[in-house]
Amino acid sequence: MNSEVFDAVIVGAGPIGIELAVRLKQAKLRYAHFDARQVGYTISWFPPLTHFFSSNERIAIAGVPLQTATQEKATREEYLAYLRSIVLQFDLKIHTYEPVTSIARQADGAFALTTRPRGGQTRMMRAKNVILCTGGTDRPRRLGIPGENLPHVSSYFQDPHAYFQQNTLIIGGKNSAVESALRCHHAGARVTISYRRERLPQKSIKYWLMPEIEGLNESKRIAVHFSTVPVAITPTHVTLRRQNDTFDVPADFVLSLIGYEQDNALLKQVGVELHGESQTPRFDPQTMQTNIPGIYVAGTAVGGTQDRYTVFIENCHVHVDRIVSAVTGRHTIIDAATYSEPES
Ligand code: NAP
Repeated sequence: MNSEVFDAVIVGAGPIGIELAVRLKQAKLRYAHFDARQVGYTISWFPPLTHFFSSNERIAIAGVPLQTATQEKATREEYLAYLRSIVLQFDLKIHTYEPVTSIARQADGAFALTTRPRGGQTRMMRAKNVILCTGGTDRPRRLGIPGENLPHVSSYFQDPHAYFQQNTLIIGGKNSAVESALRCHHAGARVTISYRRERLPQKSIKYWLMPEIEGLNESKRIAVHFSTVPVAITPTHVTLRRQNDTFDVPADFVLSLIGYEQDNALLKQVGVELHGESQTPRFDPQTMQTNIPGIYVAGTAVGGTQDRYTVFIENCHVHVDRIVSAVTGRHTIIDAATYSEPES
């Protein structure tokens, strides 16, 4: 084991993990930074050319403006390029594709961490503090029905081109489902939605998406089967149930867009208390320190598995200030952009 004791280890290189790394570096702390995958991984699985819902200034990090060529909200591609530029600009060393596999407190109060570099031997190190910026959308929520694992069923909407002239059934009724339905429709797919409630949730769906999906449903160009749940998927169709009736909808592709869950294995392993249905970690909102001294949470990881989304990049910047203040013991608040409400 490396005998060096880092001041901090950051786990996760999404926007808030990267923003934190910039600030720890500027504070001249000795830190190491790991991500199980690539920088900005969650954003990388957005479909091509997806525009963020949040405006650019709300998702800009480390004081670096986010400009786009069109003056519109950043696309997936623009934002990933921006994150790469931040890493280069601040010369951040991020050990990507190197998951942290265990964290354990030692007798002297420091934490022993183990990582798994790609193709290499296990790496071990010690740190006084560990900051978990591990996000909240690690795996898709499951339907738990027969046929869910068939190859034409996916929880990740990708390039709309794939669905051109295909019967495409989308399960879910919030932003992912509606945005995907509209994009597939415009790409020439025959789109059907199955949604478990009687109507689309007006308050949850973005105001610019709602009129279009309602109009297309009214004109029968996108069929929305309200009050239905899928009960089985076959290679050619999906069986939907409405109360006591079942009926089949032809489906060449099925997009199950019913939300995502957090992988809280590290939080649990280190003893962080998790609460409620969302399994949100217990932490002090002044410092972001969890119930385990020296273990911090930042970014959307604080929301656990979100059912109604309230924690976004834009209202997590302030976590960085709180953590830097807590681990340095210095009041370091620079210019925390605080967006308490999500973009409407
Ligand atoms: P979500 O908000 O969690 O919505 C999940 C949908 O699936 C809901 O309609 C839910 O029904 C339904 N559902 C959940 N479990 C189900 C089950 N077992 N069977 C059938 N239906 C089920 O997830 P999301 O739409 O993926 O959105 C996640 C986050 O990403 C949100 O913050 C959203 O705004 C954001 N987003 C951003 C963009 C963008 O930036 N361009 C695009 C899309 C989404 P209920 O309505 O009954 O709860």
